[in-house]
Amino acid sequence: MNPVVLIEKKRDGGSLTESEMEWMIRAYIKGDIPDYQMSAMLMAVYFQGMDQEEMACLTQVMIDSGDTVDLSSIQPMKVDKHSTGGVGDKVSLILAPLVASAGVPVPMMAGRGLGHTGGTLDKLESIPGFRVRLSETDFISQLQEIGCAIIGQTDKIAPADRLLYALRDVTGTVPSIPLICSSILSKKKAEGTDALVLDVKIGAGAFLAGTEATYELARTLVRLGNRIGIETVALITNMDQPLGNTIGNWLETMEAAEALQGGGPGDLMDVTLALGSIMLVTAGKAGHYQEGVQILQHSIASGEAWHRFVRMAELQGGDISVLNNPDRYPSSKHQLDIAATESGFIGNIDARQLGLAAMALGAGRLKKEEALDYKAGIRLYKKRGDDVETGETLMTLFTDLSTIPDAVQSRVNQAIEISRRPPDKLPLIEKIISADDEVQFPYEDQ
Ligand code: URA
Repeated sequence: MNPVVLIEKKRDGGSLTESEMEWMIRAYIKGDIPDYQMSAMLMAVYFQGMDQEEMACLTQVMIDSGDTVDLSSIQPMKVDKHSTGGVGDKVSLILAPLVASAGVPVPMMAGRGLGHTGGTLDKLESIPGFRVRLSETDFISQLQEIGCAIIGQTDKIAPADRLLYALRDVTGTVPSIPLICSSILSKKKAEGTDALVLDVKIGAGAFLAGTEATYELARTLVRLGNRIGIETVALITNMDQPLGNTIGNWLETMEAAEALQGGGPGDLMDVTLALGSIMLVTAGKAGHYQEGVQILQHSIASGEAWHRFVRMAELQGGDISVLNNPDRYPSSKHQLDIAATESGFIGNIDARQLGLAAMALGAGRLKKEEALDYKAGIRLYKKRGDDVETGETLMTLFTDLSTIPDAVQSRVNQAIEISRRPPDKLPLIEKIISADDEVQFPYEDQ
């Protein structure tokens, strides 16, 4: 086959056949197709999209490019969760042990933070000693013992996706819905999950800009996931303001720990319980949504969910003494309170800007190899709709940087809007999208 002919076919709006897709990807992995031709193909896909057949085919080629994890020894049905990425989104840390404590195994392969959003692996690694690389045998035995493990993707899972993603990253072709969907789902299929609940973020801090694109992403993920044999459901949740009250790896890990012990903030708990309940319903552990929420609340109240988290940290090499005694964790060298300059009500809180500010304080990385300051970040004391007086502290910045750059201070000041009137309420969870229907939240299914 001739790569130029295939690029032209896609460029002109044609569909690649299964054999053309397979040939192109395999030839690229082997090094027979250079980056410049694959870049042209990715750009053609970016503009022309892909049909269902092409997406399923690309996903399968990427799965077949590496190993698949055999989780057939883990019973009953295994359910994973994936978020399209948010600011302050520590839900996975809570959800994996929580859902496992309700009897549903959660084999989670998570990612690192890049750009303004944080990553689950970085948050877990803020626990000294925590290992996110486990052998397949250890991953499976941990799932057998406690029902949950959160690890990073091994190099053997969908290597074609890793190569393509790296190229997309430097060619402006990341925000392509067919490429995103086949990338996410090839890894989820290879990891061995039976079902998947997706948290698709919408709003200013979300990965994709725009309501239409976000809904299209969610619907395409659900359709493709079900097509390749993963029972897939998506929730559309708001990311106009950070989730919970903290941004930054250790701060978020501590907030997740508090949530597992019954002290989580309302918005964080609402999203966690919604996703968790749908995981239980999908796995047949709860008959309906409200029952799922009750089971999860009971697991938190009984201490079982927290116990699972601590055990997970211990099995993965983490120093659990700091989880039980967070005062032993080192403190940031510098803390700066940001005060309100006027009285009123908190309006928009720009999650993206706060995410970028936390990153500049040391909590995130611009390049993959950059080291993180796990202690760095932001604690928010006010959220959208709260009232505030002039001089009241809105947030504290934590960093080891000797001076907090002016740009960061002006970024955080500009990120919070104070208005005279209370802002409109934003729905935190908009919709649940499954293969058969779309349901407005909240669910009234009893
Ligand atoms: N996350 C992924 O794993 N792949 C994408 O393409 C985008 C986000």
